[in-house]
Amino acid sequence: MVSSGNVQNDLSTVKSAFSKYSSIVSELSSSWKGNSHDNFSSKAESFNSEFSGQMESCMTNFAAACDLYEQYKTTKSNYNIAQQNYNAASAAGESTSTFSSQMSSYKSEMESLKSQIESLLGQVKGVQLSATSLNPSASSSGGNIKVSSGAQDPNLIYTDDGYVFPFAKGVSAPVTSSVGPRDQPTAGASTNHKGTDIGVPEGTEVHSMSGGTVTNAGRGDAGGYGNWVRVQHDDGTVAIYGHLSKSDFYSPGDRVEAGDLIALTGNEGVSTGPHLHLQVETSDGEVLNSENIFDGYWPS
Ligand SMILES: [Zn+2]
Repeated sequence: MVSSGNVQNDLSTVKSAFSKYSSIVSELSSSWKGNSHDNFSSKAESFNSEFSGQMESCMTNFAAACDLYEQYKTTKSNYNIAQQNYNAASAAGESTSTFSSQMSSYKSEMESLKSQIESLLGQVKGVQLSATSLNPSASSSGGNIKVSSGAQDPNLIYTDDGYVFPFAKGVSAPVTSSVGPRDQPTAGASTNHKGTDIGVPEGTEVHSMSGGTVTNAGRGDAGGYGNWVRVQHDDGTVAIYGHLSKSDFYSPGDRVEAGDLIALTGNEGVSTGPHLHLQVETSDGEVLNSENIFDGYWPS
């Protein structure tokens, strides 16, 4: 995970690499004019090895993370099978011990794979940061350094305003309850709904709708959200994602980028069925309607 402190450090490293690059280029330019071709070649080679080495380690780590993710998916499906067997055995009143021990061994394998993947991706992200900082789209504004690769994930839905729809393309996302006054759907639920409820199956991946800082992640009673995540966006708006089954991918203080996987949906807290409660507010706490933010982009 990249913190703003790391971004600062990486950016200065990249800046010094970039100024070195500039000086090498001007030297090369004059070497060439002076016909010192050997000098030209050796400098080009050292430049190439420095930067291609960085790229190569990035690609190697990324490939390794992809391989581990394939293993993770296989283990997860084995876990699901073990769980189904467990449920079936339990319903039939038969012994469940074989299946519960399978489940716990798959679970610990998943945890171990997950931490290996996160460590590899952390290294890749550092390299990506250096590479994207060489791109002019890395800009400094208002004292906050924003580094953007400019690359969009083809699986996600981006609005012209730069927001990302919280679910990937292909996920059916019906609105089950809009912002505003409503009949109380269940005891403890609000009659003035501050968010948009989107009916999606439990475990659906939730992507951050904008870049910013995670300010809450985990279990909280606020509004009966169960597990929830709150992200303070760079543009001053705030997003709250409620009723999650997994909300601890990030911790308070962590930086997330638009489109980052930040949670899995669930049916936690005051809820009548699996859904995401998506609440967007201004910095003053005024409720914004996410159906307006994603107007024209909401998948049918
Ligand atoms: Zn809701």
